[in-house]
Amino acid sequence: MSQTPELIVKDLRVSVEGKEILKGLNLEVRKGEMHALMGPNGSGKSTFANTLMGHPKYEVTSGDILFKGESVLEQETDERARAGLFMAFQYPVAIPGVSVANFLRTAMNARLSPAAGEDGKVPHRKGIPPREFRKLLLEKMALLKMDESFATRYLNDGFSGGEKKRAEILQMALLKPEIAIMDETDSGLDIDALRIVSEGVNALAGPELGIMVITHYNRILNYIKPDRVHVMVDGRIEVSGGPELALQLEARGYDWVREEVASR
Ligand code: ADP
Ligand code: MG
Repeated sequence: MSQTPELIVKDLRVSVEGKEILKGLNLEVRKGEMHALMGPNGSGKSTFANTLMGHPKYEVTSGDILFKGESVLEQETDERARAGLFMAFQYPVAIPGVSVANFLRTAMNARLSPAAGEDGKVPHRKGIPPREFRKLLLEKMALLKMDESFATRYLNDGFSGGEKKRAEILQMALLKPEIAIMDETDSGLDIDALRIVSEGVNALAGPELGIMVITHYNRILNYIKPDRVHVMVDGRIEVSGGPELALQLEARGYDWVREEVASR
């Protein structure tokens, strides 16, 4: 286990459109660990994920996010991704004409390429050769038990919710991040999405990857075996524990956490 956690979130406060959503979030994730971030709808889980990747709508008003010892707050989303942070992006629109394979190769080349210099120019980059990419793609698809035909389909064109999740997992497998945040989202996918995300996460987990699975779904232990479980309520992590905490949530829901917070 590494000495310093790769990801450190310190007393983070975040506002969206002038309204404070995250109210002092503290969290540490190391490579090799699997965390589950749970909590009722509207508690701020997705806000945290979006803030981590630098979504412009989310304003950090105080606190810090350190990745490998450096604050990421001044970094653009692509810089964070190149450094090794990954968030499963939501693709709101289909991209007819762009295959999954093409999209992934572009994403991979972007991750491998150096950042633009002071003058704004991107240094020369070669990118991954097509043949090498294809080999890697097929290897990862086999690992994730995905059908080869998936790679030739147009990105998100007629994809089901579950297929969008599969595309994200495949992207993660290729980009090899050090810390990955998988937001399962709460929009109509629920159990199917969680199952797909979990299968991917389990296939990719290992000493070089720290993972945080975000879900409001209580029976998460049926799918993954997190080392740490955190419960977010009203913009803060109020309780953290081991897998036993997930069992407690499964049996008792979230209300007891709220009651405990109120009685402090
Ligand atoms: P969770 O993922 O835990 O369900 P969210 O982070 O999505 O919670 O939402 C927390 C709160 O922040 C909600 O009150 C939600 O309405 C608000 N919020 C989140 N993102 C936005 C946004 N882009 N615009 C406006 N309000 C937002
Ligand atoms: Mg959410």
